[in-house]
Amino acid sequence: MSQVDASSHADSTASIHPAHDATTPAGGTEHVRVAIVGTGFSGLGMAIRLKQQGYDSFVVLERAADIGGTWRDNTYPGCACDVPSHLYSFSFALNPNWSRAYSPQSEIWAYLRHCAGRYGITPHIRFDTEVREAAWDDDHQQWRLTTTRGRLTADILVVGNGPLSVPSLPSILGIESFEGTLFHSALWDHEHDLSGERVAVIGTGASAVQFVPRIQPLVSQLTLFQRTPPWIVPRRDHPIAPWRRALFHSLPVTQRIVRAATYWQREVGALALVYRPRLMRNFERLARRHLAAQVADPVLRAKLTPSYLIGCKRILLSDDFYPALAQPNVEVVTDRIAEVRARSIVTEDGTQRAVDTIICATGFHVTDAPIAQCVRGRAGQTLADAWRDGMRAYLGTTVAGFPNLFLLIGPNTGLGHTSMIYMIESQIAYILDCLRVMEKRHAQAVAVRPEIEDAFNEEVQRRMRGTVWKSGCASWYLDARGRNSTLWPGFTFEFRRKTRHFDPSSYALTPQKSLADG
Ligand SMILES: Cc1cc2nc3c(=O)[nH]c(=O)nc-3n(C[C@H](O)[C@H](O)[C@H](O)COP(=O)(O)OP(=O)(O)OC[C@H]3O[C@@H](n4cnc5c(N)ncnc54)[C@H](O)[C@@H]3O)c2cc1C
Repeated sequence: MSQVDASSHADSTASIHPAHDATTPAGGTEHVRVAIVGTGFSGLGMAIRLKQQGYDSFVVLERAADIGGTWRDNTYPGCACDVPSHLYSFSFALNPNWSRAYSPQSEIWAYLRHCAGRYGITPHIRFDTEVREAAWDDDHQQWRLTTTRGRLTADILVVGNGPLSVPSLPSILGIESFEGTLFHSALWDHEHDLSGERVAVIGTGASAVQFVPRIQPLVSQLTLFQRTPPWIVPRRDHPIAPWRRALFHSLPVTQRIVRAATYWQREVGALALVYRPRLMRNFERLARRHLAAQVADPVLRAKLTPSYLIGCKRILLSDDFYPALAQPNVEVVTDRIAEVRARSIVTEDGTQRAVDTIICATGFHVTDAPIAQCVRGRAGQTLADAWRDGMRAYLGTTVAGFPNLFLLIGPNTGLGHTSMIYMIESQIAYILDCLRVMEKRHAQAVAVRPEIEDAFNEEVQRRMRGTVWKSGCASWYLDARGRNSTLWPGFTFEFRRKTRHFDPSSYALTPQKSLADG
């Protein structure tokens, strides 16, 4: 694997916290200072930063057998990031060896594994360990975790379970009786050879746009079932020249400059998405020109032209999706699917199309993540109970009634325009500052005040009103009630500013037991 920037490793042994070493009383339950769920960018980033601050009493619980989250699971042909790699990476671990502007999945996954090794996180990871329940014990002021590999307790619980980690399959009449091969794009069946097959792809989101051009030349017939066309702009992916990589190696500041330029260029997107949706018309013109240049057939072009304002749903990047759809072995079907039969798909207009394999590119459980059922706060209520009217948190991180719980990429931290890692790192800094405050003030627990959480969410939803996401379209950004509980309505630097320092006045602090008793 490529080398990563060493410069930021300087604070790795800044302070040591022996008071919180892992303990396992004889015959008792293991106790750690911090339990982290997940080994994607979130969990791994949290673990690295903890280690850099001198913490050693932490475990990372991962249900899978390897690290990597999104980048371990999504192995479909063509899988790559859609934010430039120089920005889509940890700020403390720049990788001068990215091979392309938008690196492929294999490189990003290797990068994450490299980081786990380089920063000494691997020994802290418990693989094949799924968190089945996490319950707050108010008497002992700690979390009690039940995993597939036993129990443990933790003072602090950080959940990095991933907003896009549980694939969502469509509920279509008869789909369970399909006798061909069926899989989700996030669970790609590499054993199955698609060559010469009649393949149906359901969905036209970010994954489909990446893998359709890769499988189209292999299959005999590709039928793309499209509910809503995405807006697509040019991707302009390109290899990163060896001399540039050499420059990034020898002069890391040059890569920092590229990263900063990419960051600010992307922030312009937030200006249009959040504050000036009218500016989105410029992007729309670009997307229309792209479609016109790549699809000559006016009937196909009409099918592929969205009727909503660009940005309302995620804007996709591709240079090869439209040309693939224009090939003679591809049909784009816009009629709704009525039924799946043993070997075919029937649409509402009564047309039946024979199919050997169905690939569901139908996204993820975003606003109804199963982990919400497993996390129990005070009085035994689950996150799912607390979120009956929609997901909400303070700064996307803490939830009233759930002391010492921190969510990474929690509610309203998602983005439509730039790297999620920027948000993750902001949240991690906030959590680390919280730990510092807790130690300084000898606090055993922190719990966000309900009125603070409410005020924050009112403000978020107020800001949401003028955004492009509210301009009228169905998208996975919205929950069942039409409330946008996924995206951050603002510039990312605003979020960073708000999370720079932990704000104890927004929280109820419970003193450590020995102090409280004394
Ligand atoms: C195909 C694809 C492409 C993407 N491209 C981009 C991009 O270009 N730019 C961008 O900003 N974002 C992108 N994203 C979003 C991406 O998900 C985030 O950027 C980021 O990778 C999320 O990291 P995470 O650690 O929060 O979650 P994940 O990477 O999903 O990791 C979550 C981890 O938690 C584990 N886990 C979950 N539940 C449990 C449990 N109960 N017990 C134990 N372990 C558990 C999972 O196994 C997984 O390893 C993309 C997403 C997908 C699906």
